[in-house]
Amino acid sequence: MQNKLFINGRFVDALAGGTIDVLNPHDGSRITAIAAAEAADVDAAVDAARRAFPAWSRMAAAERGRLLLKLADAIEAHTEELAQLESLDTGHPIRDSRALDVPRTAACFRYFGGMADKLQGSVIPVEAGFLNYVQRAPIGVVGQIVPWNFPLMFTSWKMGPALAAGNTVVIKPSELTPLSSLRIAELMAEVGFPAGVVNMVPGYGHTAGQRLAEHPGVGKIAFTGSTATGRRIVAASQGNLKRVQLELGGKGANIVFDDADLDAAINGAAWAIFHNQGQACIAGSRLVLHERIADAFLERFGALAASIRLGNPLDPETEMGPLTSAQHRDKVLSYAGVAREQGGRVLTGGKAPALAGLEKGYYVEPTIVEAKPHDRVAQEEVFGPFVTVLRFGSDDEALAIANATEYGLGSGLWTRDLSRAHKLAHSIDAGMCWINCYKRVNPGSPFGGVGQSGYGREMGFEAMHDYTEARSVWVNVDATVPPHFKR
Ligand code: NDP
Repeated sequence: MQNKLFINGRFVDALAGGTIDVLNPHDGSRITAIAAAEAADVDAAVDAARRAFPAWSRMAAAERGRLLLKLADAIEAHTEELAQLESLDTGHPIRDSRALDVPRTAACFRYFGGMADKLQGSVIPVEAGFLNYVQRAPIGVVGQIVPWNFPLMFTSWKMGPALAAGNTVVIKPSELTPLSSLRIAELMAEVGFPAGVVNMVPGYGHTAGQRLAEHPGVGKIAFTGSTATGRRIVAASQGNLKRVQLELGGKGANIVFDDADLDAAINGAAWAIFHNQGQACIAGSRLVLHERIADAFLERFGALAASIRLGNPLDPETEMGPLTSAQHRDKVLSYAGVAREQGGRVLTGGKAPALAGLEKGYYVEPTIVEAKPHDRVAQEEVFGPFVTVLRFGSDDEALAIANATEYGLGSGLWTRDLSRAHKLAHSIDAGMCWINCYKRVNPGSPFGGVGQSGYGREMGFEAMHDYTEARSVWVNVDATVPPHFKR
């Protein structure tokens, strides 16, 4: 199991020799201790990335793509090992790590491997006699800070487009869940990525993360995490006016109308909030129900939630594992009290499960609360298996509730009325809307938010554009330009 920093193609200890324990969320036991990057290690990583940039950015795009495709193949060849590592470190149920996290990671690297030589510039129709063309040039060294909720998948979301576009990378995985990312670094070295093209510096946010965000040698910082930390990243980036891409929190409204296919909506709403224990920025954490179907819906939804199998993430029967850290579990549990303080009702859950074998783990029961649209549990990102139910009577009211938070990331609606579905999809303030489904992602489809959910997009051509600069080149082919200063 790799536990060191990856700088300039080698695994090394932190310069100051510090380490951080990595804990198993199932029972709190220590898995390993990783080297803890600090500012000096980040500086060394940025130096390595800067030295690697000229050759990497000039390498034929198809050749960069070929390395990403080889990486995707290597990830697939190591599916079981990566799935085990991810589940051990994060608490993702192994069935999800096998069926979702690893295949999606490979698919994302493969998509951007194929994209590397498809990103084209353009020719602009300007005045006669001139040729104006626009190149998409890489930015340089990009810094990437990823959180603990989907550490494996986020390596591909972040590094895939950055590398395909010709940038070199310094990435900081969360110190809580660094193990699968470090294994990806090993695989990258094995398939032939040149030294320094990717550097990995797990460490604390306030030291390693902060230095990466403020480093004058970094041209862009891409961050996924909380809105509060996103603001700190923007402040730290100002010294060299680096570009910033932010994928922040969410409070997804998942609206169920009275004409919806209720079987599909009940299962979809459970997936929307309970997948990965609700630790997802796009989680459908506000369940907005038409008053005519709300009671019947809640009876069946509550029964489904109560029947979800909690357990050791490495058990293939487990449907929901532990939260990723004890501190986060405590935060999530505190929200049952927050709901009650404001008059909300806890319908199901709201506590740690009393199940043999799970006593030491960071488990939380699937939790359903009913509240009012402006209560804290309907406004703040809980980031756990915690869904807030709100009721509405008309389409306008549903829309007003959906748009009544500062966030705008994921959203969903369940209805058989097509024109209502499209009308609302265009009116909800969110970067993504799912109709009669929820939480679909694909490497080709732009992913990101509006408002306090951040800016910039991951995936697709949007991501490639976000990792390049448009360079405009003017050529006088055969134009006669009258002299401006006649002498
Ligand atoms: P943070 O936003 O604090 O952390 C995300 C990442 O940023 C971590 O790697 C963290 O490192 C790093 N970081 C923290 N401070 C800085 C800094 N000053 N400069 C640079 N990097 C920094 O999230 P938390 O882990 O504290 O989770 C808190 C809440 O954030 C959650 O409850 C959830 O609501 C939200 N969140 C949203 C995510 C999303 O996908 N949009 C993902 C994770 C969290 P370190 O771990 O050392 O602090």
